[in-house]
Amino acid sequence: MAALRLSSRLALVTGGGSGIGRAVCQRFAKEGATVAVVDIDKGAAEETLRTLPSDQQQHVLFVTDVTSPEHVHSLMADIQARFSRPPCVAVNCAGITADRLLLKMESDAFDQVLKVNLKGTFLVTQAVAKALVASGAEKGSIINVGSIVGKVGNVGQANYTASKAGVVALTKTSAKELARFGIRCNTILPGFIDTPMAGKVPQKVLDKVLQLVPMGRLGDPTGGLFM
Ligand code: NAD
Repeated sequence: MAALRLSSRLALVTGGGSGIGRAVCQRFAKEGATVAVVDIDKGAAEETLRTLPSDQQQHVLFVTDVTSPEHVHSLMADIQARFSRPPCVAVNCAGITADRLLLKMESDAFDQVLKVNLKGTFLVTQAVAKALVASGAEKGSIINVGSIVGKVGNVGQANYTASKAGVVALTKTSAKELARFGIRCNTILPGFIDTPMAGKVPQKVLDKVLQLVPMGRLGDPTGGLFM
């Protein structure tokens, strides 16, 4: 049997209660990591926790709003108290949409999406990096979930696409600043993935999107490799 690639690692996953974040938690646990499932939705995080294979790992959930500096501060303190070490892998998956055409988009909808997708990613990146540096850990990996639409734009998503383009720039800067501490920062840009978030996209929009996808279907958050 192949060695578990994340054996003895502590991994934090925001947005771990659903979709891509849940699939990441499941895959990490399967690879031997202990997973901190972080989500604003307690019930969803509990549901994820129930699905995690746990041979020796003791996965834990944390109810956290990633837009709140106080919540993120408490999250890191709670993780330190529980595990006596910071997570060496952090995946920023928490995200929302509030789609509307630019001409009709309310300013609040713009702010809210930027707050969760971009500021939340900043707060968690900063908190994890501070904890890693303070602990003297020699390496870490922060993975931010952007989106392909942050690169190419998408009708009805001025707020979301701006937030995801921001995530790319934030990650590039984080990578430059944190490399000297052995912390790698990367963004992934998924296409359209079959999750509750994609379920909110009108069918006629999805039909158009699928015409651009060679496989003619939405992506599977598990990559089709798990479960
Ligand atoms: P999802 O809606 O299934 O899951 C998002 C999770 O984030 C939910 O569990 C939600 O409770 C949590 N969340 C929302 N606000 C939060 C907050 N303030 N604090 C903590 N948790 C919060 O969505 P998904 O499709 O799995 O998306 C995951 C990530 O992938 C998002 O960043 C999304 O923008 C990105 N993404 C999704 C797609 C797609 O097609 N589904 C494509 C590209 C990128």
